[in-house]
Amino acid sequence: MTTTSAPGTGATFAEPGATPLALLLLGQEADTGSERGVDCPGELPVASDPDLVARAAAAKAALGDKVFILGHHYQRDEVIQFADVTGDSFKLARDAAARPEAEYIVFCGVHFMAESADILTTERQQVVLPDLAAGCSMADMATAEQVAECWDQLVDAGVADTVVPVAYMNSSADIKAFTGRHGGTICTSSNAKRALEWAFEQGQKVLFLPDQHLGRNTAVRDMGLSLDDCVVYNPHKPNGGLTAEQLRAAKMILWRGHCSVHGRFSLDSVNEVRERVPGVTVLVHPECKHEVVEAADMVGSTEYIIKALDAAEPGSKWAIGTELNLVRRLAKAHPDKEIVFLDRTVCFCSTMNRIDLPHLVWALESLVDGRVPNVITVDPETEKFAKVALDQMLALP
Ligand code: SF4
Repeated sequence: MTTTSAPGTGATFAEPGATPLALLLLGQEADTGSERGVDCPGELPVASDPDLVARAAAAKAALGDKVFILGHHYQRDEVIQFADVTGDSFKLARDAAARPEAEYIVFCGVHFMAESADILTTERQQVVLPDLAAGCSMADMATAEQVAECWDQLVDAGVADTVVPVAYMNSSADIKAFTGRHGGTICTSSNAKRALEWAFEQGQKVLFLPDQHLGRNTAVRDMGLSLDDCVVYNPHKPNGGLTAEQLRAAKMILWRGHCSVHGRFSLDSVNEVRERVPGVTVLVHPECKHEVVEAADMVGSTEYIIKALDAAEPGSKWAIGTELNLVRRLAKAHPDKEIVFLDRTVCFCSTMNRIDLPHLVWALESLVDGRVPNVITVDPETEKFAKVALDQMLALP
């Protein structure tokens, strides 16, 4: 459960609960039951203000060591230029925890990342998300209520005792806490194989949340399981669309979630780029569909992709299947290599892109003025069990 303080109102809204939809439509409140959130409240500078860069720099300088700005790899360049560190969500949360002198952590990422930072930082530190509308569609695809229903079904099928939950970092604090309560672990796209190996030592089945593709790709490519060992639990169908028999037979129970960015790459994208760029090496993220991963030459997390391109030979040709802001930055950083985006259509993470320079300026200037906007706070009970699951990940062999 997360609470979000709404600037200007002094109010704190607690989830879960009924969403005041009428107010949400007017952009007057935070949808605390959703990763999507709503509009950032307050007076935003206009995007055309020519002084935005100078204003952000001045506010950051005025705050000094009190503020630490985190920039996710998929963030816009205009925001990344002010980040003290860049990285994936887990690295950023750890970086924030390593800077206890920073009172304010401004997280230029999405909602679940800010929650993770709040879980891992001290009570004194406040985590600010410059736009509450920066959510993650994948994290939104698994709610606490849906996952609790799924678990009830596993109990009814007589298999819950044999199931170990493994939740991807890209999940809400509630789902991380569920995982901790049920003896599971969190994983990232870098350590998903180690997480599954550990989980299959603890039990006979894994409930993988919320990204079906990362779960399937890791199970089949890295662990030698077959596609028939996997079933997909669809929270929008009665009983998840599965019979008790299917649950008993499965080794991997995959939650029906996906990334709306990586899920757009297709087998056609791979075939088309191989024709367009002869000799190209196709490198994709494991959140892509199974057939895309199977057709690619290399598969790995964002950190893996960055390292692979750092180590690549000058003159080599690459088609990259991950978020477009990162691919563009990598192409700029490696002018000696030909780096193209895997798909011809634009593929930004639209929610991550909600955090633009006006929102960053607004958040920093609010802090300078003594107001702490858009604070993301995970309640102590949720934090406790989410941390159990995160600590389990840190203890993976
Ligand atoms: S890229 Fe995909 S998983 Fe990452 S924040 Fe955006 S929607 Fe979520």
